[in-house]
Parts: sequence; C-alpha cells; structure tokens
Amino acid sequence: MTDTFTIAIDGPAAAGKGTISKAIAAQFGFAHLDTGLLYRAVGARVLAGVEPIEAAITLQAEDLDRDDLRTAEVAQAASKVAVIAEVRAALVDFQRAFARRAGGAVLDGRDIGTVICPNAEVKLYVTASAEVRAKRRFLELTGKGEVTSLETVLADVMARDDRDMNRAEAPMKPAADALTIDTSELSIEQALQVALKEISAQRMP
Ligand code: C5P
Repeated sequence: MTDTFTIAIDGPAAAGKGTISKAIAAQFGFAHLDTGLLYRAVGARVLAGVEPIEAAITLQAEDLDRDDLRTAEVAQAASKVAVIAEVRAALVDFQRAFARRAGGAVLDGRDIGTVICPNAEVKLYVTASAEVRAKRRFLELTGKGEVTSLETVLADVMARDDRDMNRAEAPMKPAADALTIDTSELSIEQALQVALKEISAQRMP
C-alpha cells in the first residue's frame, strides 16, 4: 500500500483548471504541479536564444521561478515548443515522479490524463467557450498591467487551442474516462463542487 493518489486535470487555456487545481490541492493537502509552467519556462529560454530541445533537457528548478512566465508572448512560445516530441519527452519523468509522490498530487495541463498519467485515479477535463476564456484571460492580463485588447487575446487563445489540439504529439483532448466540466456558465465555486463530487466518488473504497 502506498499513499499516492493522482488527480489529472486537462483543458484549454483560461478554462479555470489552474484555480480548480489549486483549490483541490489545498482541500486534500495534495501537492500541485502546473505543468504549463514547464513549457512556459522552456519557451522563455527559447525566446532568450536557447535551442528548444537543449532548453528542455537542461531545464532547472530556478527556471520555473522567473516572474515573466505568465505573459502572452511566453504562452505562444510555450505552445510552439510543446509540439516538439523531444521537448515533451524531456519533461515526462519529472511529471510522472511528481504524480506518484507520497501524499497525493494534482497535475494540470493538456496531456496529463492521456499521456503522463493514464492511470490517474481521477481525470477531469475543464473547458469553456473560447469567448468566455478570452474574456477571463483579458481581465487577468490587463489586471496585471499588460496592454492588450479582447480581440488580440481571443486570437491568441484560438491560435493556441488550434496548435494544442492538432499537434501530432500528445494533442490536447479529454481522456476517454475523464469527466468533462464546462465552466462557461459556472462560477469557480460551482465548478469546484462538481470536481469535488467526482473525487469523492473515486475515493470511495
Ligand atoms: O497551461 P498553460 O497555458 O500555462 O500552458 C502553456 C502551453 O504549454 C500550452 O498552450 C500548451 O501548448 C503547452 N502545454 C502542453 N502540455 C501540458 C501543459 C502545457 O503542451 N501538459
């Protein structure tokens, strides 16, 4: 018997999966890994001139601490490096080890339930319409002082969705056994309740 328990949460940008993941991790005392940050850190290194595969292989913990990883520019760079099979391969072991750590783990990303943790005890796919997601991301970016427009953010979100869904390697999609939660018309609290109900159901002996 080990006390591992993995919750895989996938879905497109700004659907609410980060907020839901953090809340679930806090509720159960599980560790949380935002796997998008790994790709963003690789993307940021590429923007700084490092070759993509090299950037992924030599990624260090401190690369994840940079305070510029949440920008729209880094998001696009992340989704471009994320199509490269060798970049993804370089990040697999770290994510799988995190998923099986003692005490439980929540990982959010695009391919957690399908590729990284196909045996996760709970799989959720959190989504929302592109318009709703763009509006949320627009408010988040302008709230942090980035100058942009709703149209630009919508175009960025759609370009990223397209790249993430249509790549050959680990495309973004719900696992066959994932519960899909559409947050377009749900508050974070309502979406969280749906997620918690699913987790309770899977945790029953
Ligand atoms: O989740 P976030 O928006 O920070 O992710 C940035 C990009 O990293 C995504 O658009 C996607 O291309 C890539 N990504 C991925 N697989 C993951 C997490 C993120 O391909 N598990």
